[in-house]
Amino acid sequence: MFDLADRIRGEIAATGPMSIADYMRRCLSDPKAGYYTTRDPFGTRGDFVTAPEVSQMFGELIGLWCVSVWTALGEPERFDLVELGPGRGTLMADLLRAARIRPCFTEAAAIHMVETSPTLREKQQQALAEHAGRVTWHDRIEGLGDGPLLLVANEFFDALPIRQFVLGPDAWRERMVGLDGDGALAFALGPPVSDPSSAENLPLGTEPGAVLETSPEGERIMAEICRRLGAAGGTALIVDYGKDRAAYGDTFQAVARHGYADPLADPGAADLTAHVDFLRLSQIAEAAGLAVSGPVGQGDFLLEMGLLERAGSLGAGKGQAVQEEIRAAVERLAGDDQMGRLFKVMAVSHGKIAFPGFDRSRATTHRPVEQEHKG
Ligand code: SAH
Repeated sequence: MFDLADRIRGEIAATGPMSIADYMRRCLSDPKAGYYTTRDPFGTRGDFVTAPEVSQMFGELIGLWCVSVWTALGEPERFDLVELGPGRGTLMADLLRAARIRPCFTEAAAIHMVETSPTLREKQQQALAEHAGRVTWHDRIEGLGDGPLLLVANEFFDALPIRQFVLGPDAWRERMVGLDGDGALAFALGPPVSDPSSAENLPLGTEPGAVLETSPEGERIMAEICRRLGAAGGTALIVDYGKDRAAYGDTFQAVARHGYADPLADPGAADLTAHVDFLRLSQIAEAAGLAVSGPVGQGDFLLEMGLLERAGSLGAGKGQAVQEEIRAAVERLAGDDQMGRLFKVMAVSHGKIAFPGFDRSRATTHRPVEQEHKG
């Protein structure tokens, strides 16, 4: 039996501690035993529920948003409709159904799904069965066509590997995964590093013990999205939980069966994530000469897109149980103490494009530095 924990311990014993990024990559995407490679973790019987799995309304409203962007772009006859990390394919299926209000939108769209997990690709194929032949799957964002782009990524960036650096009395050191005296996985600190990141966002005089997180892969993918947008035009919509200002803090976390778990306890059996650094992503976009909208809270975005109206029409004429379910979904997606504030929505576009979703904003960027908490 292939045992991922044994493999990782063996590698560390042989070559020394690994970065959290390497550990995350192994746990999430190992070809034999990675968390996403081997299972469908979504839904009430899985480990966690994402917004498209809470309710069809989420994907539908994003579909309407895509149609308005396409209209604002001058209704190009061909464009690439891309989703990064599409999970079960629910968002794309709901998006395409809602977009039927403009049949030419669907006809113009070449649909691309960027997904590394073979298990989830199969789920996505089932979810998009009625669009068979019009959908292409890719392992990486590089290599997509070169047309105008409409890209959606929900809870994708939080699943990308992060590195962590801890400020000691003398220097920043990388937080690594090593072995303790009993040979069990344990956090350890690496040798001093001179420049842990793009520290330009962070204030001087930081207290010892501060934790700085970076996501080299997230930055690489964002830069590639921006390159594509700059070359061929279009917009990318990024939805995730995270921070919209420079902040220190350890947000590396494991979730299994709807609760927090120890990230080192059972490699490959829990979802590992970290908060997305929206400030960093927006800086990459701005440096590429693109326009950034938001981030705004997911609640504000969905309410402006017509969440309450959609909930009303979905529930009309239905029984009390269904109406109650829809009401609970609205609360879950948009409630301040649920997904409404922690989850954020940011759009990045080539040139100024008029689109809805960002006007209710209780605006956000460039707030003072705060300590970030898990959750
Ligand atoms: N967007 C979905 C799923 C979110 S979970 C939803 O909201 O329900 C993260 C998704 O990203 C999974 O589909 C996972 O397999 C995929 N993924 C993780 N790392 C990836 C990578 N480097 N490239 C492409 N897909 C990746």
